[in-house]
Amino acid sequence: MTDSTTLTVERHVPADLPDRILHYIGGESVPSLDGDTFGVLDPVSNEVYVEAAAGKKADIERAVEAARTAFTEGPWPRMLPRERSRILHRIADVVESRDARLAELESFDTGLPITQALGQARRAAENFRFFADLIVAQADDTYKVPGRQINYVNRKPIGVAGLITPWNTPFMLESWKLGPALATGNTVVLKPAEFTPLSASLWPEIFEEAGLPAGVFNLVNGMGEDAGDALVKHPDVPLISFTGESSTGQLIFGNAAPYLKGLSMELGGKSPAVVFADADIEAAVDATIFGVFSLNGERCTAGSRILVQRDVYDEFVERYATQAKRVRVGLPHDPATEVGALVHPEHFEKVMSYVELGKSEGRLVAGGGRPAGHETGNFVEPTVFADVAPDARIFQEEIFGPVVAITPFDTDEEALALANNTKYGLAAYIWTNDLKRAHNFSQSVEAGMVWLNSNNVRDLRTPFGGVKASGLGHEGGYRSIDFYTDQQSVHITLGKVHNPTFGREATDH
Ligand code: NAD
Repeated sequence: MTDSTTLTVERHVPADLPDRILHYIGGESVPSLDGDTFGVLDPVSNEVYVEAAAGKKADIERAVEAARTAFTEGPWPRMLPRERSRILHRIADVVESRDARLAELESFDTGLPITQALGQARRAAENFRFFADLIVAQADDTYKVPGRQINYVNRKPIGVAGLITPWNTPFMLESWKLGPALATGNTVVLKPAEFTPLSASLWPEIFEEAGLPAGVFNLVNGMGEDAGDALVKHPDVPLISFTGESSTGQLIFGNAAPYLKGLSMELGGKSPAVVFADADIEAAVDATIFGVFSLNGERCTAGSRILVQRDVYDEFVERYATQAKRVRVGLPHDPATEVGALVHPEHFEKVMSYVELGKSEGRLVAGGGRPAGHETGNFVEPTVFADVAPDARIFQEEIFGPVVAITPFDTDEEALALANNTKYGLAAYIWTNDLKRAHNFSQSVEAGMVWLNSNNVRDLRTPFGGVKASGLGHEGGYRSIDFYTDQQSVHITLGKVHNPTFGREATDH
């Protein structure tokens, strides 16, 4: 029996896959106007399993027109927050009721382990619930100038929001933008990542079942440089919320500049996990293993640089490497799998090139190639390099796979300098039992988000986003509401206010 035959037997292909993936515009599923399609691969066989509509400028124009009409003429922006909230809760209910199917499709399309894909499906439902609750609790400011004025904020949806998302946790990241954009009364055009369009094709049915009016949600599949670019350059799309690579973010920033669009950008990362000698080493090993190998290492907030104080360095590296070798690489649908298959052969090649590079830049202590028994498909062993110098490319560049660099340090100052020594600034994880050090370090580290003695456990109310090359603006909780709304000031005169008369008629004296 050949390897590929073995794989075909073991590989799980979900039942009832769609026979094609279409756009969804103005409440209807439609092909591209020019009929163009692109092939979508599954990361275990790397074979095309479906053709998806390849959107171009004309398809984006059609979608924006539908969204614009729903915004100017439809009920959605004018509904009471409670009415919109009810629909958002229903969306969450429907997502929850289909979490197993969603996870199955997501895991098949992305290669994420099924248990982790299930967690992402539930988080997607929670994103809708969270913004459904927030929008009814929303209060806006009023300012009194005694006897003269009362001034209030009239918060309004902005219009058609363009949402552009990556492939690493597609459905969850789409919900992260759809929740607040819709809760605040905007209409949207979503452009999902071309590697992973499958789970997004479930949104139309979910929204229809929950009672979202037609035209409020529109979906255009396609390449970033075609469909994504046309969305960024469409004059009737005043907002772009983008998650993806920093270099794509820079390009979009430039392309949106002539239109002075509102931009929110969640970009790449190379986040440090800093382990001091006084830390709970066992907990730190568990968390830093999970932090870089969960979601196949395709995680923006991955702690992909581990900085360890020299006193515990050798012990840490040994424990870490031993445990990393036990992390289970396997078929994505197997509930025992901890690391599945990387999303796409192009990405696999990129990650493998860093694995090879790492062999000359660091000391390989675990992994280093394809796992035995997985001769095809995008499988990579959890790979650990120790003694990595701070100017190494594997220390500086985002690999976005199950690959980690470990580097020793002696003093707090050195740890901080190493932590801040990349262009990125998304997350940081600090492990220490010293209270003063923990807070001083957290406040000095150049990262949008810091976790102390903890993994990446989110509180949805807190700001989410990065500094430096990791992002522009923060979303999360009320920051998302602010991004998707205009806060218009209305000033009301109650008494005597400043009102000089220019051009006063001359009077005789
Ligand atoms: P990517 O930048 O290649 O693509 C992201 C999206 O942008 C895709 O939908 C793509 O089609 C589109 N796109 C590409 N070129 C475009 C253009 N010229 N105009 C408009 N749209 C365009 O990113 P990716 O490879 O899909 O995702 C991985 C990256 O995303 C990593 O760098 C990761 O760190 C980052 N990420 C960041 C966060 C965060 O919250 N900070 C979360 C998840 C992923």
